[in-house]
Amino acid sequence: MSKDNLRFNSKLIHAGQIPDKTFGAVVPPIYQTSTFKQDSLGVNKGYEYSRSGNPTRTALERSLTSIESGNFGFAFASGLAAIDAVMKLLNPGDEVISTNNLYGGSHRMFTQIYQEKGVKFHFINLEDPSNIIPLINDKTKLIWIESPTNPLLHLVDIKKIANQTKHYNVLLVVDNTFASPYLQRPLELGADIVIHSATKYIGGHSDLVMGALVVSDETLANKLYFIQKATGAVPGPMDCFLALRGIKTLALRMERHCENAKAIAQFLDRHPGVEKVYWPGLKAHRGYEVASAQMKDYGGVVSFVVKGDSREAVDRVVSKFELFSLAESLGGVESLAAHPASMSHSAMAAETRAQMGISDGLIRLSIGIEDKEDLIADLENALKS
Ligand code: PLP
Repeated sequence: MSKDNLRFNSKLIHAGQIPDKTFGAVVPPIYQTSTFKQDSLGVNKGYEYSRSGNPTRTALERSLTSIESGNFGFAFASGLAAIDAVMKLLNPGDEVISTNNLYGGSHRMFTQIYQEKGVKFHFINLEDPSNIIPLINDKTKLIWIESPTNPLLHLVDIKKIANQTKHYNVLLVVDNTFASPYLQRPLELGADIVIHSATKYIGGHSDLVMGALVVSDETLANKLYFIQKATGAVPGPMDCFLALRGIKTLALRMERHCENAKAIAQFLDRHPGVEKVYWPGLKAHRGYEVASAQMKDYGGVVSFVVKGDSREAVDRVVSKFELFSLAESLGGVESLAAHPASMSHSAMAAETRAQMGISDGLIRLSIGIEDKEDLIADLENALKS
């Protein structure tokens, strides 16, 4: 039976896991080596140097490929390194149409590195896919989607955009970090490249920094493999092992993240100390319909604006947390709270943040897999302040 034909939960456990030929280890070993002994000139056992390939990384890349329903996968040293590899496909004069609700680090790379080198970016509202067509011209090379977005959880209809743009010579790129392949598989919806900060739900335990790309097309895969090898932003074997271990429990973790997030979003929605709640599973959320059609569940991130909508109000709340840790990142088993204005989106000009709707009173929660009653009690106590 081909492991790529398994159902999703079985793929998480089995796809890409290379049986250890030497001792029969069930878990792919950590090949903690930079280089491989060659049998004679030009003759090796499939690996020569760990930048171009390492068996633990191969196991992970095969697993990622399978769970994102692609044909080729690449692991990188961070999510931003994966994004950077895609941007290296571009030349000066090329144009990118991107969501105006973009992760701050991607925005910083686009505007402060690639824009400087002559790539032109259009940051637009992709919630309305018809905004794209008037901007497409023969220089347009990429359409860049995040869905749900960081941190306001806007939804973009990936299938609709793929259908609208498939007749043009543009690549549709989806940053699937917030959803994870458990909730949404963009290649199945018509995307050309899926990106992950595997630091988040894929790793799942806040113990590694990693990125991933998965594609279906072989020519595109060859270009990305060349960039991965030629520029060398690859993860080490130990991190690949940790990511493989994380992947095995992705479905179980995501189920609990989503269940807890639902309870917390509903709690915050009723709380008098909260001005606004963002979670795609709330019927009042602007992306509720797209999320319901596109995702298996609504995700584990909940953002909210504290009453008073100020940095001081946020400071009072986060200083009272006992279970939620004030920390960057998301997608781990433990609950985290972040302040986008001073953390993930601090590299953006205050004006750009304001245009995006990221106010000083916004808190982004990454809901962990603890008991939801304890998380709610922690929030209740902090919001009393
Ligand atoms: N994409 C999204 C949506 C993110 O939230 C992040 C990090 O927070 C990244 C990409 C960058 O990933 P990394 O921090 O692994 O470089």
